[in-house]
Amino acid sequence: MITVQDAESIIQSQVRNYGTEYVSIHHALGRVLAEDLYADRDIPSFNRVAMDGIAIRFAAFQKGLRSFSISATQAAGQPPIDILADEECIEIMTGAALPSSADSVVRYEDLEILNGIATVKVDQLKQAQNVHSQGKDRRAGDVVATKDKIITAAMINIAASVGATKILVKKLPRVVILSTGDELVEVDQQPSPYQIRRSNVYGIRAVLEQLQVQPTLLHIADDEAQIRTELQECLSNYDVIILSGGVSMGKFDHVPAVLEALQVKKQFHKVQQRPGKPFWFGVHDNGVVVFAFPGNPVSTFMCMHRYCLPWLHACLGLKEAEQYAVLNEAITFNPSLTFFMQVELRMNKHGTLLATPIEGNGSGDFANLLLADAFMELPAEQNTFNSGEVFRVLKINKS
Ligand code: AMP
Ligand code: MG
Repeated sequence: MITVQDAESIIQSQVRNYGTEYVSIHHALGRVLAEDLYADRDIPSFNRVAMDGIAIRFAAFQKGLRSFSISATQAAGQPPIDILADEECIEIMTGAALPSSADSVVRYEDLEILNGIATVKVDQLKQAQNVHSQGKDRRAGDVVATKDKIITAAMINIAASVGATKILVKKLPRVVILSTGDELVEVDQQPSPYQIRRSNVYGIRAVLEQLQVQPTLLHIADDEAQIRTELQECLSNYDVIILSGGVSMGKFDHVPAVLEALQVKKQFHKVQQRPGKPFWFGVHDNGVVVFAFPGNPVSTFMCMHRYCLPWLHACLGLKEAEQYAVLNEAITFNPSLTFFMQVELRMNKHGTLLATPIEGNGSGDFANLLLADAFMELPAEQNTFNSGEVFRVLKINKS
């Protein structure tokens, strides 16, 4: 049995690069950017008027002029219209290009307009006020978004503004998720009194969908021959195989033996942790990576967050910072296993993230998962954990 840390480093030593592909900006949200994006023009690309009002020369105001005759009106998108004398102004709209003959904009709120004359009502103006000058945010050729980041709504916005209609993103691996177990039925079926719905695979898929991975879902019975046939097929059609169930000590837990018979090399079986102790991990020579999680719903869910998701992040070039919180209640846990405890997180008024344990009924109790914000990782070497101690947390239920 290996430690959580060793399991993690073995998995991280199997990081793969699945390459890149172009996608339309319409489908880029949530993917991982694989190229830097550059400004094709200055941002703003001209001296942009930032308020509706009038464009004047600041020097004219400084000389004492307060009333300006409106010589023209300029809307956004029009070529700039020059003012020809200090006494003139252009009525100008937000988003318009400031003419080079003016340098400041006085907003309507600070004006009185009567018979084509705009009078400034305020005593003080600043030069270049309400002007968003050309190139102030970024210069043409500057990087506007750096690669190896998840494409967010804000990034879509900037990509659109620089005309990036096709965006280079990381390719996603082909993933298959298999449930195993004769007691499992499809979610739209009515289980008999001794059956359950195969909910885990849907939970795993939902976790992967956070990274836009669209896995295939399959089911296999606890039948050695069927497991072998299905897995053999999966080994040639997918990059990643995720199994739930069938890896423990039971009479019908055939998965590890079949995987090894199919030349998937075991990297480890069993991790010093609760939940998820029977976790099996292996790789095939053809590059396929196999995560075989115990079927207990909480075990599967925890292992997805602690092992599979960080591995996928690394494959996609994402760097996720570890997160920590303060334990808010004393806990005793005697087995020498790393305990992944379900906690509720709350930020107190001092800005401290507090983790309060949620009472649960072990790894079978997944109804409680919904109440948890995170798993707190309590190290195997310690048995008593005091209120105020800081430990790592794995956030779950992130929208
Ligand atoms: P196993 O790891 O196959 O021994 O399964 C452990 C427990 O998890 C058993 O109670 C199974 O019925 C349950 N289980 C296994 N697979 C699933 C699944 N896909 N969805 C929900 N529960 C499952
Ligand atoms: Mg089973």
